[in-house]
Amino acid sequence: MTTPVIVWLRHDLRLADNPAIFYAAQQGAVIPVFIDDTSQLGNWNTGAASRCWLHHSLESINHEFEGQLRLFKGNPQDVLTQLIKDTGAQAIYWNRCYTPHAIARDSSIKQTLKSQGVEVFSYNGSLLWEPWQVSKADGTAYKVFTPFYRKGCLNAAPPAEPLSRPKLTLFSEQIPYQHSLPELELLPDHPWKNQITDHWDISEDAAWRLLRQFTSERLSDYQDARDIPSLEGTSTLSPYLQWGQISPRQIWYYSQQQGNKPGLEDALDTFLKELAWREFSYYQLYHNPGITTENLNQRFNRFPWKHEAEQYHQWQQGCTGFPIIDAGMRELWQTGYMHNRVRMLVGSFLVKNQLQHWHYGARWFWDTLVDADLASNSASWQWVAGCGTDAAPYFRIFNPVTQGQKFDPDGSYVRRYLPELTDLPNRYIHTPWEAPAAVLSKAGVVLGSTYPLPILDLKETRQAALEAFSSIKETV
Ligand SMILES: Cc1cc2nc3c(=O)[nH]c(=O)nc-3n(C[C@H](O)[C@H](O)[C@H](O)COP(=O)(O)OP(=O)(O)OC[C@H]3O[C@@H](n4cnc5c(N)ncnc54)[C@H](O)[C@@H]3O)c2cc1C
Repeated sequence: MTTPVIVWLRHDLRLADNPAIFYAAQQGAVIPVFIDDTSQLGNWNTGAASRCWLHHSLESINHEFEGQLRLFKGNPQDVLTQLIKDTGAQAIYWNRCYTPHAIARDSSIKQTLKSQGVEVFSYNGSLLWEPWQVSKADGTAYKVFTPFYRKGCLNAAPPAEPLSRPKLTLFSEQIPYQHSLPELELLPDHPWKNQITDHWDISEDAAWRLLRQFTSERLSDYQDARDIPSLEGTSTLSPYLQWGQISPRQIWYYSQQQGNKPGLEDALDTFLKELAWREFSYYQLYHNPGITTENLNQRFNRFPWKHEAEQYHQWQQGCTGFPIIDAGMRELWQTGYMHNRVRMLVGSFLVKNQLQHWHYGARWFWDTLVDADLASNSASWQWVAGCGTDAAPYFRIFNPVTQGQKFDPDGSYVRRYLPELTDLPNRYIHTPWEAPAAVLSKAGVVLGSTYPLPILDLKETRQAALEAFSSIKETV
């Protein structure tokens, strides 16, 4: 029972329902390892907000491992080969990652280690259904969400039941070349990092607290409340899912157990469907690895994008003069998170009103979201831009004023992130430029000074977007 076995942790920073840890624990003394992969993740090195999250996640799981989490930095192939030499481990366990770079990296490492006589075991620790398990009757991949979920996933074998937290024997001997957590330098040298940690409690326990609270207090209102950004209407579990503090199987089964009450059927169905959108994103990434940069609808390769650096900067900073857009971008900066409805609005504003390539939005989100996930981020940006599979049609251009009035009617969300507009009456909270001078003055708002004037004309830019779209309509 003392044979050392390595568990290589990646996006699965939890002890319960962790197949790699569960099965490794049955084989020997576990060496839990995290490697800050400097071989680079394609062009998608972990973004700044995610690195903050990762730092605190590693700190938390290290406590669970009684301080025996082993940290390394470098090329995983080299680190693991050295580690096997140093410890005499004969087996390595991991849960699969699904980005194109990770698939290529892991396949190569598996092949090399196997050729050296090391056993390699890999598991599904982060999806309900493996992307290759779900296909249409003719064997091809689904392109549209509803049949993917209703026909494909729900008719496939149900997701595996979550595994319990195993009893562990930990390998406790010294290992050379280890790093301390600060040596990984995951935290940016900027006070911004504190905003993230002030806002989130980052641990496996915290993920469970959120799930319990969501299912007991918020699930019943989920269908309506999920679209209102001022409310705590959604689970906010996305960063925990991304870093694996909780697994989708745990959420899937626990929410069904808790939601199995009369009157909750529709709310539960909607919540599980959202979880399935995450699956669909991974499915799309697996079947179209180019989705991170290439338009799925190739007609968009000819789209006349513009890049206006100044306008992009105003969008990033939340200084566009459209309150719901600015509130969303400032929520992102202050918390590392943005409400889903507002993500759709700021995305539409960048891509359709500003005509900036969706790549710019995806990059900024990648760096600033704590839940930045290559699958969901890429698929969602393609959805917003209209070039993805099953995407929002290009001609559906969200109007930030009417959307604000509909989903934030009393301006609570806007006021939370734009305190400079706090005293503006509700009537003008989404259209400060329409407020009479006396109203602005009473509210202490000086347009162009305390809050920006709109940086563009919604009507004109909508027309320009529609014209740009018709220019590519017939080309392919
Ligand atoms: C432009 C844009 C970029 C996005 N980038 C990301 C991203 O990088 N990472 C990310 O996790 N989500 C992303 N999303 C999807 C969605 O906004 C978030 O998953 C959701 O806001 C997370 O909040 P929640 O956990 O409270 O969701 P809930 O409503 O509680 O939903 C539960 C879970 O379902 C999944 N989910 C919900 N909606 C979606 C969706 N539309 N697509 C995929 N999965 C979904 C998430 O894992 C979420 O945690 C993006 C959406 C847009 C429009």
